[in-house]
Amino acid sequence: MRGKRVVVLTGAGISAESGVRTFRDNGGLWENHRIEDVATPEGWAADPEKVWRFYQARRRQMNEVEPNPAHRALARLQSENESTFLITQNVDDLHERGGSENVHHMHGQLLTLRCEVSGRSEHRMEAASLGDEFVTCTCCSTPHRMRPDVVWFGEMPLGMERIYDAVSNCDVFVVVGSSGHVYPAAGLVEAAKQAGAQTILVNAEAPANVEFFDEVHLGAAGNLLPDLVESWLKTSRRNANDQEC
Ligand code: NAD
Repeated sequence: MRGKRVVVLTGAGISAESGVRTFRDNGGLWENHRIEDVATPEGWAADPEKVWRFYQARRRQMNEVEPNPAHRALARLQSENESTFLITQNVDDLHERGGSENVHHMHGQLLTLRCEVSGRSEHRMEAASLGDEFVTCTCCSTPHRMRPDVVWFGEMPLGMERIYDAVSNCDVFVVVGSSGHVYPAAGLVEAAKQAGAQTILVNAEAPANVEFFDEVHLGAAGNLLPDLVESWLKTSRRNANDQEC
């Protein structure tokens, strides 16, 4: 893959082996909550305390989980192939802690909170901001309530223009740990394929959009990805050597 423009899209499945529960593996429930109740603006308006407690528990969990070999394998791919653009649907920071840089969090992040009035994000992981009480911002002269800094269903994912630009200009598009149900992320593989990219999947099971992948690797990402990345790098080293000869 060296020298190729690679785009990688990850989903909740890549963090499953770190102990972070995925979204849909449990009949449309996320940690025993209906998705509509905890991951929509309507859910927040109807019961902000419930949604707040849900995300505060997810935020506290970040202090207890560690990146797994799949996160580290993608960091290695990025370090060996500079033109690798890593997009994640995940709100955890396990890619960064696994060594990745410039991670594009299209659905926001747990480490930050967003002022409901100014829309500004603040890194708020100190102990006082991890309890069940609401947190207020430091950006307004009268501090206002903050909300989870995540993109809920019905809200616009972040940086879609940059994402579409990278996807429509890549040579290889890799998806890891995503069910292919959540749009627009699930539609990116089709866009990549239409643009002529080679499309590769690593997932525990066949996702909803499996027909758009040229290469399908079914199994746990932590088992499969380290060897796959090594083989991709080995092939590209061999190709580079052949060209030099
Ligand atoms: P999803 O839960 O809909 O799908 C996860 C996919 O990963 C499934 O197809 C499952 O079979 C697969 N999977 C499970 N364990 C795996 C493993 N060990 N290796 C490889 N694949 C595995 O997740 P999604 O497609 O990312 O969409 C759900 C939404 O949920 C995203 O928008 C995301 O923001 C949010 N979410 C994020 C986190 C997180 O940040 N870690 C966790 C839960 C949900």
